[in-house]
Amino acid sequence: QPSLTVIEGQIAGLYDLGRTLGTGRFAVVKLARHVFTGQRVAVKVIDKSKLAGGAAGQLLQEVRCMKLVQHPNVVRLYEVIDTHAKLYLILELGDGGDMFDHIMRHEGGLAEVRAKHYFAQIVHAISYCHRLHVVHRDLKPENVVFFQEQGVVKLTDFGFSNRFQPGKMLTTSCGSLAYSAPEILLGDEYDAPAVDIWSLGVILYMLVCGHPPFQEANDSETLTMIMDCRYTVPALISRMLQRDPKRRASLEQIEGHAWLQGVDPSPASRCLAPLPCSRSVRRKRRRMRRMRGSPAPWRGRAVH
Ligand code: ATP
Repeated sequence: QPSLTVIEGQIAGLYDLGRTLGTGRFAVVKLARHVFTGQRVAVKVIDKSKLAGGAAGQLLQEVRCMKLVQHPNVVRLYEVIDTHAKLYLILELGDGGDMFDHIMRHEGGLAEVRAKHYFAQIVHAISYCHRLHVVHRDLKPENVVFFQEQGVVKLTDFGFSNRFQPGKMLTTSCGSLAYSAPEILLGDEYDAPAVDIWSLGVILYMLVCGHPPFQEANDSETLTMIMDCRYTVPALISRMLQRDPKRRASLEQIEGHAWLQGVDPSPASRCLAPLPCSRSVRRKRRRMRRMRGSPAPWRGRAVH
């Protein structure tokens, strides 16, 4: 609609543009306010002149998929304003920044309960998308936005998304190297849902470890590590699961480890209850064993 007028700092007389919320490879996302209602939104501004041939088609795909997926953990697309030079996607506003910045602020990863809480919501959103036969193909923490007021996280940026037919392979190579599945990087045909699951694995690793599993000095080394599926398990775990007891971490090292920093261990010591008498402990242990159906304690068994 070339007839729409775009005044500096305003879109089509409908939204006042504010500060930049984030910048991606193809777009800049700005805070905006609806002129008449005052509603705050996020506006993804896409400069059409910068889009090469295929990217324009992909843009339509982004709009189609975002309109289709309506879920509490997916950012809503309210409207699309198409002008001669730019395309504006008017989106539900995330008021708490994105998950990449959040992870970067937590050295050594998030507390496990938080990581689980966020991860479950992302899985919920993707599971819904896959049921609608929509594959995201660019899952990464930058594309997960915090909605503090609602107390949830939501998935955004469907710029590489597409519809798929279950069982039918796709061929378009897309995504971001550090989050991409080996089959995508190889340029093979791939099963659509499985590539999102790989990226979910990378996200979970980042949530609990605080850094990506595949991140080498340069892209070609990163690529090699992804192809070989070579990554390290979190250092603290491998420090404890050492066969040689002499090489195993000491309690001091464990307590001083980055993963446990910022965790308050005192709630437990604050509620020091009197020790129960040994008879009631024995009774409780018998009860627990009955509940779990375990015939006998396994503690004394030899491990080969
Ligand atoms: P990419 O390089 O991942 O393809 P892009 O150009 O498609 O990026 P987006 O990923 O959609 O752009 O947005 C860029 C950034 O803007 C996000 O990483 C996030 O920080 C911010 N952002 C996006 N959508 C919203 C939103 N609805 N509310 C708040 N911030 C947002």
